[in-house]
Amino acid sequence: CGIVGYIGQQDSKEILLRGLEKLEYRGYDSAGIAVLNEDGVHVFKEKGRIADLRQTVDLNVQAPLGIGHTRWATHGVPSRTNAHPHQSASGRFTLVHNGVIENYALLQRDHLQNVQFQSETDTEVVVQLVEKFVNDGFEAEEAFRKTLTLLKGSYAIALVDAEDPEVIYVAKNKSPLLVGLGDGFNVVASDAMAMLQVTNQYVELMDQEMVIVKRNAITIKKLDGQEVARSPYTAQLDA
Ligand code: GLU
Repeated sequence: CGIVGYIGQQDSKEILLRGLEKLEYRGYDSAGIAVLNEDGVHVFKEKGRIADLRQTVDLNVQAPLGIGHTRWATHGVPSRTNAHPHQSASGRFTLVHNGVIENYALLQRDHLQNVQFQSETDTEVVVQLVEKFVNDGFEAEEAFRKTLTLLKGSYAIALVDAEDPEVIYVAKNKSPLLVGLGDGFNVVASDAMAMLQVTNQYVELMDQEMVIVKRNAITIKKLDGQEVARSPYTAQLDA
C-alpha cells in the first residue's frame, strides 16, 4: 500500500498514476486518485489493479494538484466504496491514508454521532473529523492538527481542501512518508521511488509531524504547532 501526491504546474494525473505503479510492489487490493482544479475535486477509484483505475480516469480533467493511494484493506472489504480517497460529508475535504486508526470507533461515537458515513473503513473518521472541526469554526490547518492529536495508531495521510487549491496537508505516525522537493512543484510519497520520475530531493518526516505542502514551499510542524527545519537529501536508487 502507498501514497503519492503532487502540487505544481503540470497536470497531476499521469504523475500520480505512474507513482502508484511504482508502489505496486508493496501490495494492494484497490487504488484511487483525487485531483483538484477550478471546477472542484474529481475522485477516481477502483477495486483491483492500477490498470483498472486508469480505465475510470477521465482524461479531459486537467488538474495541477492531486493525491493517490493504493489500499491494503484492514477495515472494510476491498471494494470501490471502501477504496481511498475518502471525502467528508460536504465533499470539501478529500483524504488518503495508510495504516490503522485504532480508536476510530470511539472517535466516531464521541464526535461524529450525526455524520452519515459512506464507507466501512477506519480511515473515514479522519476526514469527517477535519470537517467537524471546520464546522466548529477552526481554519483547515488547525482542524487537521486537532484531528491528528486525537488519532491513535499508525498513519501516513495526505489531505486536500476543495476551498484551497494551494495546499496539500500531510502527516505521519509509524507509517512511511516523504516530501519531495522540485522547482515550482512539490510531491509526497511513501517511497522515493514513486516520485523519482520528477525529483531526487527528499525531506524525511518524523512521527507526529505534519507538513503544509505548497507549490513553492513546505512547512514542517510538530503537533504542538512548533515549526521544524530540516534539509533535503538526495535519493540514490539504482533503478
Ligand atoms: N486502514 C485503512 C483501510 O483499511 C488503510 C489501509 C492501507 O494502509 O492501505 O482502508
